[in-house]
Amino acid sequence: MPSPSTRLTGILPSGKDGWELHFAAWQRRQAGAAIVMLTAGDHDFASPEETVEACVRNVRAGHHHYTPLPGMPQLREAMAAVSTRCTGVATSADEVIAAPGGQLALYAAVQGTVDAGRHAIVISPYYATYPGTFRAAGARFTEVVARAEHGFQPDLAAIEAAVEPDTRAILINTPNNPTGAIYSRESLVGLADICRRHDLWLISDEVYWTLTGGATHLSPRALPGMEERTLVVNSMSKSHGMTGWRIGWLTGPRDFVSLMISLNLVTTYGLPDFISRAAAEALAGDFGVEEIARRYDGRRKVFLDAIARHPEIVVRGSKGGIYAMLDISSIEPDCEAFAWRLLEEERIAVMPGVSFGEAARGHLRVSLCQPEPVLADAAERIGRLAARLRDAGSARLRA
Ligand code: PMP
Repeated sequence: MPSPSTRLTGILPSGKDGWELHFAAWQRRQAGAAIVMLTAGDHDFASPEETVEACVRNVRAGHHHYTPLPGMPQLREAMAAVSTRCTGVATSADEVIAAPGGQLALYAAVQGTVDAGRHAIVISPYYATYPGTFRAAGARFTEVVARAEHGFQPDLAAIEAAVEPDTRAILINTPNNPTGAIYSRESLVGLADICRRHDLWLISDEVYWTLTGGATHLSPRALPGMEERTLVVNSMSKSHGMTGWRIGWLTGPRDFVSLMISLNLVTTYGLPDFISRAAAEALAGDFGVEEIARRYDGRRKVFLDAIARHPEIVVRGSKGGIYAMLDISSIEPDCEAFAWRLLEEERIAVMPGVSFGEAARGHLRVSLCQPEPVLADAAERIGRLAARLRDAGSARLRA
């Protein structure tokens, strides 16, 4: 074939996306092995019944047509109302633009703010698609480590030091994937200060904003001078139990949103009609939101309580979102090796921390997308392997 563009081949230059263990585990499971999958962040339950009914009703009613490029009016109204609650800033429909999922909202935010060759700052550990999203824009980026010892809060001095003359944006994510950290007010105030002083965009991925373990969500968009420079990424995937529906949105300054419509013209050309209508109803009615948040709070507690019985495993962050982060570095610094042994010996699939950046080396990311008894049992089996490796290590030292 003729050669593909370097834009395409540059998205994953190593050809590795960090999900190798997940796919290997998945194949073994398909072949009949009893493997517990704690890799991906997808719910183990179906979308709320009311949402499904709304979709069926709308598809039966003949809503099968093109929709406006930035989203149907009632969808944008409903998204704006949720953004008002999420960010604490009164938001109108023309300050939001609909996208098929948070990932495309993120892609659009980067395309809309960082020119090819320009620079951005990403906080590591990060959601695995972030580096590729910048590469797809031809942008350069610096990973700034949020240290485990600091509960994975962003390191403001290191971020300040990473700002270059052509830096255009900082990308943050709170509650965080993979660490489960929730950024403190102090962290967000410091980030906002850096953005204002250097005239930067702050792309704030808040797709887990309802999953905070009961804490009040803080959005940097509400801080002084930030409404004009913050782009909030939102999604119905996690909060509303709708991963496969592909509905997300971006909230930002009205003039920026109006420019972004041209990106939808050449990419999505609008969202599906009946899905947009069902999504608008689900947003307006908060279908499933409280129940899903309660469910993950319960799972987080059960899993972390069981892990706490294994003192060689250290937990930091893990306050929100749908993942727990385990520091296993005192037992096995090579988290990929630990994760593969966990799959081989205990039949549990988790993500090695390095899949989410160097800053998460020595860690495992555990998805909480399984029922409480499965998570409690998985914690015991992770602890069992840790104890075996620790004992083998101390026997080697004695020998
Ligand atoms: N941001 C973060 C931090 C995520 O974890 C995810 C999904 N795992 C997304 C964005 C994108 O989600 P979606 O495209 O399903 O809305």
